[in-house]
Amino acid sequence: MATLLEFAEVCEKIKLTTSKNQKVSILANYLLKLSRNELPIACRLLTSKVFPPWDTRAVNISYSTISDAIKEITEVSEDKLKATYIKYGDLGEAAEELMKGKKITTLIQNTLTLQDVYSALDTAASKKGEGATEVRLRVLKGLLALCSPIEAKYLVKVLCGEMRIGLDEGLLEEALAAAYGRSLKQVREAGLIVADIGESALVALDGNFDAVKLSVFHPTNFMLAEEMPSPQEVADYFRCDLYAEYKYDGVRAQIHSSGKEVRIFSRRLEDVTNSFPEFSKPFSDKAVILDGEIVPYKDAPLPFQMLQRRLHRKEITKELLEETPVVYFAFDILYYNGETYISRPLRERRMILEGLNLQPPLYYANQIKVKLKEDIEEAFEASLKLGYEGLVIKHPDSVYTPGKRGKKWVKLKKELATLDVVIVAAEYGHGKRAGVLSDYTFAVKSEDGLKVIGKAYSGLTDKEIDEMTKILSAITVKDLGHLKIVEPKIVLEVAFNNIQKSSRHSSGYALRFPRIKRVRWDKNVDEIDTIDRVKEIYEIQAYKKML
Ligand code: ATP
Repeated sequence: MATLLEFAEVCEKIKLTTSKNQKVSILANYLLKLSRNELPIACRLLTSKVFPPWDTRAVNISYSTISDAIKEITEVSEDKLKATYIKYGDLGEAAEELMKGKKITTLIQNTLTLQDVYSALDTAASKKGEGATEVRLRVLKGLLALCSPIEAKYLVKVLCGEMRIGLDEGLLEEALAAAYGRSLKQVREAGLIVADIGESALVALDGNFDAVKLSVFHPTNFMLAEEMPSPQEVADYFRCDLYAEYKYDGVRAQIHSSGKEVRIFSRRLEDVTNSFPEFSKPFSDKAVILDGEIVPYKDAPLPFQMLQRRLHRKEITKELLEETPVVYFAFDILYYNGETYISRPLRERRMILEGLNLQPPLYYANQIKVKLKEDIEEAFEASLKLGYEGLVIKHPDSVYTPGKRGKKWVKLKKELATLDVVIVAAEYGHGKRAGVLSDYTFAVKSEDGLKVIGKAYSGLTDKEIDEMTKILSAITVKDLGHLKIVEPKIVLEVAFNNIQKSSRHSSGYALRFPRIKRVRWDKNVDEIDTIDRVKEIYEIQAYKKML
């Protein structure tokens, strides 16, 4: 029987070695000792999970409940617990130290197995609503009472959702491949489809990679799109007929229907069924998995923010349903009537999808056949006119690759926002722009001076660049040959698609696909945007990704 003690000792060994190969070998040896039933439990616990991501049983034992349990079991004061926590910055490490002085012991010497831990946490997670916190506290105290210090340490680390021992899912996949003599590529690919490390472990154990199938109510990772800057680049890259779909601004969702019941899963594979009761009616008598976007919509798309009111709400009232009506735009089908369709080309999947006869509030994502730059531009404009975000352009032969951002699907987005920035340096361009200052480094303002946030090469006409070259030469304060540092005087309005954190520039951020919209001759440097505005845009964008 796999014990918690052995699990903890393996974790400790992994923590103590910095060698990746050694970590993999310790893990692989451990995995080989586990039974088929224990393997998924151990793999989830090793990555500080108890259930698959879509499971509605969330353990949800809060930091404060864990702290209360440790305090009660070890009979230490709040201050002592706090001081020990601060010493390590990790509740698991603190638990270990405090448990060394544990006063309460049970009469019977007990050996906790992984199965015991799983069953106890299942009990804790299954209790919802009133009294749930008490049940969780009781369960946790029951477990801790049977733990040795090292067991307590790793149990607490799992419950805090962070092991901090230099082990992640990628490393565990390597160990799975090593333990059962499988190819890492196959283990990883199967992992993306099954989307749960416990399940991946069983696939690796059996080595039955070709038999990996989807099933309803077990979501898979979503296929992603690579961003491209312009219709021209999309046309040049593919040079063939393509499907352009509107890029709907909502939340990505898989709708699973068994024929009798419907469940909805978010991009993070969480079960969000209760937030969207309007989709709860089965739309086919066969089992189906759809991929698409949930969009706030009434005659036209509504602001994305309206969806926030729906998500993570305990109760969706009638008023809320009326206030924030939503529809679903289906653009793919991954499973139908017992068959997994992800390895079939998109053109075939789309035909099957269209055979479903979806009814409102389920709609088909619109699809336009495009090939040339002009076709793509036209579809892009049409999308913006209708209030959407741009296009997702897909190769008709593309297979569905869960969790991957291949270049079979690409996205063209309207600008996220614009910023007013000031040019701080300029460089000569290349090719026909070799003799003119066409590349500009620009900055935003902060309390301690200007902070560089990016570089832009495109957006101005040749005439404007000539004019800029004259002005920039006149305000050069340091001439470094190819590069000229200039007085911060010229304000640009730049558009971009994304903000990323980056150590490349002094602001700590970088703009993705920056392009100059215009020179703001009417503005002076005091009026440019601030680093706080950059942070604000970054945070809204990051929040959206978490939904
Ligand atoms: P990414 O999803 O690529 O990581 P992101 O979260 O910033 O980036 P976007 O850049 O907005 O998202 O674009 C990708 C998202 O676009 C998809 O995850 C999906 O939610 C959404 N989307 C809207 N319409 C479509 C469509 N027709 N096909 C595919 N995805 C679409």
